[in-house]
Amino acid sequence: MRIFDPHIHMTSRTTDDYAAMYDAGVRALVEPSFWLGQPRTSPASFYDYFDALLGWEPYRAAQYGIAHHCTLALNPKEANDPRCTPVLDELPRYLLKDHVVAVGEIGYDSMTPAEDHALAAQLQLAADHGLPALVHTPHRDKAAGVTRTLAVIAESDLPPAQVVLDHLNETTVKAATDSGCWRGFSIYPDTKMDEHRMVAILREYGTDQVLINSAADWGKSDPLKTRKTADAMLAAGFTEDDVDKVLWRNPVAFYGQSGRLELEPPKPGGSATHEGNSILRGGS
Ligand SMILES: [Zn+2]
Repeated sequence: MRIFDPHIHMTSRTTDDYAAMYDAGVRALVEPSFWLGQPRTSPASFYDYFDALLGWEPYRAAQYGIAHHCTLALNPKEANDPRCTPVLDELPRYLLKDHVVAVGEIGYDSMTPAEDHALAAQLQLAADHGLPALVHTPHRDKAAGVTRTLAVIAESDLPPAQVVLDHLNETTVKAATDSGCWRGFSIYPDTKMDEHRMVAILREYGTDQVLINSAADWGKSDPLKTRKTADAMLAAGFTEDDVDKVLWRNPVAFYGQSGRLELEPPKPGGSATHEGNSILRGGS
């Protein structure tokens, strides 16, 4: 089984996670830039983070045989902090780089005017750069958040086929389906959406334009939820081809719209370094 996790925050995960993901079949992933928990106080903090997503993290993933790509953006939460909004002016320089396969995560957190501005501006950046967009739907007040998000997308120059609406559930999947956007689902332990509810949604809404991710980060999460969903699909009677479509070919088709996917898996355990550093902490 080959798996592409289209949304996972590896910066927050350990090398044990990389090894376990490889063993489970994960061969490629996309890491969206996001809120780190600790609020950033200057644009420079974003640029160092973006550079890590373009340099150090792909290097680390390659040691475990996994191809790493990223999406870059000013996240919805920090779009409300005027100390951080100059990032919007600097993003065009970053969006030119190889391995940036979408603009994201963008969208709404609390649905403020500052978030309206950042969402519209970054959808335009995606359209201008020929990139798809990864749009986060808010965890609170989800239905209203999706309605408002879809209105902003409809006003933008970005076609729905280049947008994935992420963190959907039973209450928002129909509106997302009707919009023509791709439908993203984050599978979490305990809350929000689990693999069995996901299988029920796939039965009802089909496997086209669906992306399933673990969204694993610094909170309670499980980087193997993609594999667990694949196993739940097989147990429920979906075929191996259905699984390959949802867990591999769909994310390849969506992010492939960037023209920048490189899926040739790097060789695990390579001895090269990143800017003179390795994951061996100075050892050799
Ligand atoms: Zn995320």
